[in-house]
Amino acid sequence: MAQQSSIEWTDATWNPVRGCSKVSPGCKHCYAERFAERWRGIPGHPYERGFDPRLVPEHLLDPLGWSARRVIFVNSMSDLFHEAVPLSYIRLVFEAMAAADWHVFQVLTKRAERMREALSLLPEHLVELPHVWLGVSVEDVAHGVPRIGPLQESKSSIRFLSVEPLLENLGTLDLDRIDWMIVGGESGPGARPMEEEWVLDLRRQARSSGIPFFFKQWGGVWKHKSGRELRGEEHNEMPAMSPYDLPPRLVRRERTVRLRARLASVQMEEVTAG
Ligand code: SF4
Repeated sequence: MAQQSSIEWTDATWNPVRGCSKVSPGCKHCYAERFAERWRGIPGHPYERGFDPRLVPEHLLDPLGWSARRVIFVNSMSDLFHEAVPLSYIRLVFEAMAAADWHVFQVLTKRAERMREALSLLPEHLVELPHVWLGVSVEDVAHGVPRIGPLQESKSSIRFLSVEPLLENLGTLDLDRIDWMIVGGESGPGARPMEEEWVLDLRRQARSSGIPFFFKQWGGVWKHKSGRELRGEEHNEMPAMSPYDLPPRLVRRERTVRLRARLASVQMEEVTAG
């Protein structure tokens, strides 16, 4: 189901996959893992299996049931391109996003190469959709910056960088074909510090490339105290949204029925594996 989100750059979250595994320093204090592991072993809880990756086909069609437009962060509790998610399921997620085209979907990954590969294998009608944005996390030079290339090579109408948690000065970035930059510091217990100069450098680069710049937060152990002003102002720029065009109820119902049939036709053992 949709969760209203407290994340500053989105409205809601949708998790057709749950659980993940760590790939880089940005994952060190993963909020999703901390949350999910709290419920491990509680029978009937959505996170009964803790943070183990699991497909959630029962929530695949949810966005088709929400008539009001939402900006939706896809898989806030996972990574769509995790190796445990079969390509057939990734395709179903894209089919659901294509069918619910009055929303805006934000797909963020740390598995940029698998994203590029998956995108190259999807049928043309599912890629470069105006309401589906693709992004990569860029937390440091060694692991984050190399994700930018595969993003640039992935077909997408909007490509974005989530520079969070920013762990060091990233130097000069190649921002060709990048449409949005989000920057933020780490928050919560053990948060690693972020220096103002690193953020200012990124803002400079975004501005000189004409890229909307969103400053999410300074972070720290008490993120509400440190706030989200950079040199006295909030930065909330976003790319232009695709037009909001809600199809008639009958059309929405037809799309739901078609997608439910597609889901039923995919081998269930493949869908529940992982
Ligand atoms: S990729 Fe994201 S969801 Fe997965 S472990 Fe890392 S921070 Fe957590």
